[in-house]
Amino acid sequence: SAVLEMKGLSKVFETDELQTYALRSIELKVYSGEYLSISGPSGCGKSTLLSILGLLDMPTSGEYFIDGVNVSKLTLNQAAEIRNAKIGFIFQSFNLIDELSVFDNVALPLRYHHSKPSKHEIAEKVKACLEKVGLGHRMSHKPSQLSGGQQQRVAIARALVAEPTILLVDEPTGNLDSKSGDQVMQILTDLNNGGTTICMVTHDPRYADMASRQLKLLDGELLGEIAVKEPLNA
Ligand code: ADP
Ligand code: ADP
Repeated sequence: SAVLEMKGLSKVFETDELQTYALRSIELKVYSGEYLSISGPSGCGKSTLLSILGLLDMPTSGEYFIDGVNVSKLTLNQAAEIRNAKIGFIFQSFNLIDELSVFDNVALPLRYHHSKPSKHEIAEKVKACLEKVGLGHRMSHKPSQLSGGQQQRVAIARALVAEPTILLVDEPTGNLDSKSGDQVMQILTDLNNGGTTICMVTHDPRYADMASRQLKLLDGELLGEIAVKEPLNA
């Protein structure tokens, strides 16, 4: 069954007398093991869609299910709890905390996790995730002591550490040179091959091509599925 599902979901922003339909009647199912890309011109609703997928914002109408649970009408506290348990975010701007070491940045989602892992479990999981992104030797560094590509790889480790249902990824290479960008994209591909479900916003057609399913947004409408490839492990 679908890990994420949107049914007739719309988002309207009201400013003064203006109504902006940021998303119109979205129908979307994401299955375990898929790698989706979402692209489209500026203002088409990509950020709004990712925010609602990640429970950072709520729809105006329609329904949204995560792992079969209707999450369309949650309070902010309930949304935060499900977000921590189920969603991993990767942003264009890394969003690491500069006062904390790489280790402590990656450990953060576990320190507030409902499973209350022990210190030892936290250390093991943080190490394993940093090794997965090739940064096992940088645990005591501060983010500012790393290159941009390394910082994004730390952000990937942080997004993975609580074993989320899905990784939501927003223009992951936007602040990187092309070599580091390609490295980050390779890591996402490797993670997907290992079973991680990914939903990525990108405007780069080369990167959109790496997904198993490409979606296009135009003026708030989802334009179907270009270049459907079989998910590797569905
Ligand atoms: P994209 O990420 O594709 O550039 P967005 O999701 O940011 O698009 O925006 C979609 C539409 O919703 C745009 O017309 C934008 O102006 C509008 N919009 C987004 N956020 C707000 C907001 N907080 N208030 C009013 N309008 C908004
Ligand atoms: P990679 O190819 O692994 O992304 P780089 O070639 O960018 O790494 O960087 C090589 C080393 O130089 C890194 O291990 C990192 O610790 C250090 N380094 C890179 N950029 C910076 C920076 N802006 N400030 C401090 N150290 C840096």
